[in-house]
Amino acid sequence: NGRPLDGRVAVITGASSGMGADTARRLAELGAAVALVARRREKLSALAADITSSGGTAIALPVDVTDRVAVRTAAQRVADTLGPADLVFNNAGVQLISAIDALEVDDWQRQIDLNVTGVMNVIAAFLPHLTAAAERGRPADLINTSSIAATRILEKFSIYSGTKAYISHLTRLIRVELGRKNVRVNAIEPGMVDTELPDHVTDPDASALMAGLLRDIECLSGADIAETVAFIAALPRHVNISELVILPTAQA
Ligand code: NDP
Repeated sequence: NGRPLDGRVAVITGASSGMGADTARRLAELGAAVALVARRREKLSALAADITSSGGTAIALPVDVTDRVAVRTAAQRVADTLGPADLVFNNAGVQLISAIDALEVDDWQRQIDLNVTGVMNVIAAFLPHLTAAAERGRPADLINTSSIAATRILEKFSIYSGTKAYISHLTRLIRVELGRKNVRVNAIEPGMVDTELPDHVTDPDASALMAGLLRDIECLSGADIAETVAFIAALPRHVNISELVILPTAQA
């Protein structure tokens, strides 16, 4: 009669908005203690208070995941307050699409810093937690947020797609090494989800392209992704969904 994620300790990066926030809320409802990671402190505190007042357990960890030392410190905070993490939703990411010849080199760098380096910083800081959980016979999940952009040819998505292709292939490779240690590794590759993601795009044509998609079809919600993450994590320990594409029904 317990809940599917009772006793789990989950870390969610990008928890201040979009699919990270919805996933944090859902994992907490299903019994996990959640550590909320992102930069916007007020958003995290409000969400943590919300979860706590509904009877859940949550801590806010305002951290920029591109800062390796800060992420390591946050991992120690998780261990000290909630115990070692056994579910890591490595989800913070940014999408700044533009034409390649516009040479938006600062935007290129921001995407690489967060979607590649930030994702690696989180893996480095929390992998010891996951292997420790697995050694104790507990489920352990590393779930990385990739995108359908990892495999599709989408105009103006080049740098973003490159970072997501990196995440998807990295996931396939480390799954082999960690699976042997009973740590499950997964990449989710969503299509269009209605979140704050397009708000950061500066290229006007690229913004119009995203807005068009959002207007024309019924997109996924953060809650749809939350349900998917919960499903992956609640499976029996010997079952590893390694790669999962999730699309709005009407998206090509
Ligand atoms: P949001 O923009 O709503 O969420 C992004 C999250 O990342 C925010 O919580 C943001 O919080 C956090 N973040 C940004 N920079 C940093 C940083 N340096 N350190 C820590 N946290 C940071 O968009 P989504 O929910 O859509 O995005 C989540 C993931 O989903 C991303 O990896 C995105 O690429 C991926 N994705 C999204 C799709 C979509 O259609 N929306 C489709 C496929 C994949 P803060 O600003 O407070 O730091």
